[in-house]
Amino acid sequence: MKAIYAFEDADSKNRALLGGKGAGLSEMTKLKLPVPPGFTITTEVCNEYYENKKQLPKNLMSQVIKNISKIEKKTGKKWNSSNNPLLVSVRSGAAISMPGMMDTILNLGLNDQTVLGLAKMTGNPRFAWDSYRRFIQLFGKVVFGVNDEKFDSVLKASKKKQGVTDDSKLNVDSLKKIVVKYKKICENQTKRKFPTNPNEQIQLAIDAVFRSWMGERAVVYREKNNITRDIASGTAVNCQTMVFGNMGNDSATGVVFTRNGHNGIKEIEGEYLVNAQGEDVVAGVRTGKDISKLQKEMPKSYKELFTTCKKLEKHFREPQDIEFTTEQGKFYILQTRTAKMSAFALIKTSVDMVKEKLIDKNRALTRIPAQQLEALLHKTIDYSKTKDFRQLAKGIAASPGAASGIAVFDVKRAIAMGENNTKVILIRIETKPEDVPAFFSSEGILTSLGGKSSHAAIVSRGMGKPCIVGCSELKVDYDKRKFNANGTTILEGDTITIDGSTGIVYAGIVPTVAPQVTKDFETILTWAQKAKRLGIRANADTPDAAKLARKYGAEGIGLCRTERMFNANDRLSIFVDMIMAKTKNQRKIILKKLGLLQKSDFVKILKAMEGYKVTIRLLDPPLNEFLPNPEELLDKIYKNKSGEKLSDTKKVLERAKELAEVNPMMGHRGVRLGITYPEIYEMQIKAVFEATAELVKKKVDAKPQIMIPQISSISELNHIKKIYDVIRSEMEKKHKVRLEINFGTMLEVVRACLTSDQLVKTAEFFSFGTNDLTQAVFSFSREDAESKFLPEYMEKDLLETSPFQSIDENGVGDLMKIAISQGRKHKKDLEIGICGEHGGDPNSIKFCHSVNISYVSASPHRIPIAIVAAAQAAINQKSVRSK
Ligand code: PEP
Ligand code: MG
Repeated sequence: MKAIYAFEDADSKNRALLGGKGAGLSEMTKLKLPVPPGFTITTEVCNEYYENKKQLPKNLMSQVIKNISKIEKKTGKKWNSSNNPLLVSVRSGAAISMPGMMDTILNLGLNDQTVLGLAKMTGNPRFAWDSYRRFIQLFGKVVFGVNDEKFDSVLKASKKKQGVTDDSKLNVDSLKKIVVKYKKICENQTKRKFPTNPNEQIQLAIDAVFRSWMGERAVVYREKNNITRDIASGTAVNCQTMVFGNMGNDSATGVVFTRNGHNGIKEIEGEYLVNAQGEDVVAGVRTGKDISKLQKEMPKSYKELFTTCKKLEKHFREPQDIEFTTEQGKFYILQTRTAKMSAFALIKTSVDMVKEKLIDKNRALTRIPAQQLEALLHKTIDYSKTKDFRQLAKGIAASPGAASGIAVFDVKRAIAMGENNTKVILIRIETKPEDVPAFFSSEGILTSLGGKSSHAAIVSRGMGKPCIVGCSELKVDYDKRKFNANGTTILEGDTITIDGSTGIVYAGIVPTVAPQVTKDFETILTWAQKAKRLGIRANADTPDAAKLARKYGAEGIGLCRTERMFNANDRLSIFVDMIMAKTKNQRKIILKKLGLLQKSDFVKILKAMEGYKVTIRLLDPPLNEFLPNPEELLDKIYKNKSGEKLSDTKKVLERAKELAEVNPMMGHRGVRLGITYPEIYEMQIKAVFEATAELVKKKVDAKPQIMIPQISSISELNHIKKIYDVIRSEMEKKHKVRLEINFGTMLEVVRACLTSDQLVKTAEFFSFGTNDLTQAVFSFSREDAESKFLPEYMEKDLLETSPFQSIDENGVGDLMKIAISQGRKHKKDLEIGICGEHGGDPNSIKFCHSVNISYVSASPHRIPIAIVAAAQAAINQKSVRSK
């Protein structure tokens, strides 16, 4: 196993081995772009490091030194030289980009001698000492774990002493003193001399980068982004000759996207800083200048940047995120990777690149992470209402969408409150990777520093969270937990709204409007509709939801939960009366009223879905779900504050006690209710037939189908089928029309899956209820597991994701395969759908495609995601087959 590859020798297609950054550097070197020479230590070495109890392999350092010599030959610079010193950067880089989640060290190789060499070589002592103090700080932080604040306070004091406010104004004398103090800080922490030998420095740096693979930030990021070991296993380490953007006013450094990462427009977008190092731009320490200004300021570099961007896009067929440096007028490219873009930009660039013939439609579809499309379906500010709200400040619009919540200035508090379901806007001066956990629990992020490529901006965009950065009008005071903006003070706890699409911050909670599907998005959806094989239906229970689902492209309803129709205020009391009824006759009288309401809803839903199948599921939840819980009732009686007649409350209590079950999810629900209270199912079946008859007479193409929940045996199904048959012939006689209404079953009980060969004899279709099925297969309560123990399961790597979110392919999936194959053996074209929450999850959709499910059913807002995910599954399967 080869541990190290020089950029020019590596197999740049092997991202798993070289990491994305290493592969990119190698590819660019081969394209003859101006990449400073260097080498990559492979991810295999990282894995060996962990297998070997965090020890670097024995012969690694001798190979590192050999490769350093190679760089010396290429650059003419010398390692540990006091004349012409070679300095390197040591950077992490896994197969999947994890921006800012792992560690990097710059200016490595500096010590009290080489700093003099650097000063001599550049004729710029200030620059040399500034590089040295930056190196000690970064090295101290990354390798020794020194808290940044210790360095910052020395820097602050030195600036004060010298009477300057800007870092770049510190003179050589001050910088020399800072170096001494910085070294002392490290030595106090480690109780050893600061390492001066570059060989030792690089060894410690490599070790630290490998360690950062398992650092908390990186682990949390991988967990939250479902980056499993088969996607990225270990980080590579890239050692590369340093070039300097801080060598004076003819030097600069910048970060650009080859297309606008926010709106997808074809323009170079980003920032640069003159006389600065790359980290300054990324960390947002100084707000950068817009890249368009480089054209005037350094026309030659801008031209080279422009051609490089074009070349890279053409080569990678993806917009790139580039880091460049101009050192005394000479342009270098330091990094390229696929640009992380907002969902909006992904859609636009996909459509544009097809028009430009850079990519084909299949690639245009598969390059969009389907999950990210959710951001496009986000709410936006209702601009007609903004005049009623005070505009506090305007910053840089960094990630689209609107978010409201209470202002919180501290990461820990934001996490705690977010987890308590309080809507929070995280406000920081700037953010660092360790703040990321708070991003997950916040509605949106607002920072007073930083540009579009700052940490806060990139992370928010990736997560689809609204974000504003560089809002310099905010004067943030962490201690007093407040900010001041143009004369208004906002204290922690006050509500604000941020508009990540315009960069405006408002006081209060501004109303929002539902998202809109753009023309480009429609184009993508049209392409996806053509490419997919799976049908996409909606879980919709009301006429409005059905209309929305149609608008988003649903081809029918896969699950209409009829019990949800009883939840509206005017209906719940009738439903409760039905439950309270003492006799079957009394119950029947009340059911008549409910029947009329259901019929009218069915008419509207079927009409909204004209021409498409609508799967109507008969009552499923246990009846006690509709009654207040006995403890609450007892409390009311005890305190005599029910507001109703005491005797009535007592009656409800009695009934609630009768209906109470130890384990209601496995109790008196689903078909078991239909068997013990046949009048309920009779009413529902009749309502479906009545609605259909009415529509058929009006020549509306209504296609309802009736589905029975919680079936475990063919005898249960046949029992209900008899009721259905009787009602059907009654209805056909009454209305003098043939009423084609399919009769099918859910598969959500283990036994149903195992006996599907019998069920198929009666059922005209199957639909997997993967919520209950997952519950049954794992014996995990679907109500409690995710809030109680599943997070710890994932933390401890016992499960990769929650099986309630993504189908457990090995357990639940295998059971589904049995049911599918038995079912289709009897009826070749049997319609088999899935209507659990998994129907909107891209990974589960991929699985459903692979096992030949007929359709997935998802909530209306997830329909576009499901359409794109289904197309991706079809395209990827075809491309695997053709390989
Ligand atoms: C299911 O169990 O997957 C399902 C769709 O039904 P419900 O969630 O209503 O139990
Ligand atoms: Mg269910």
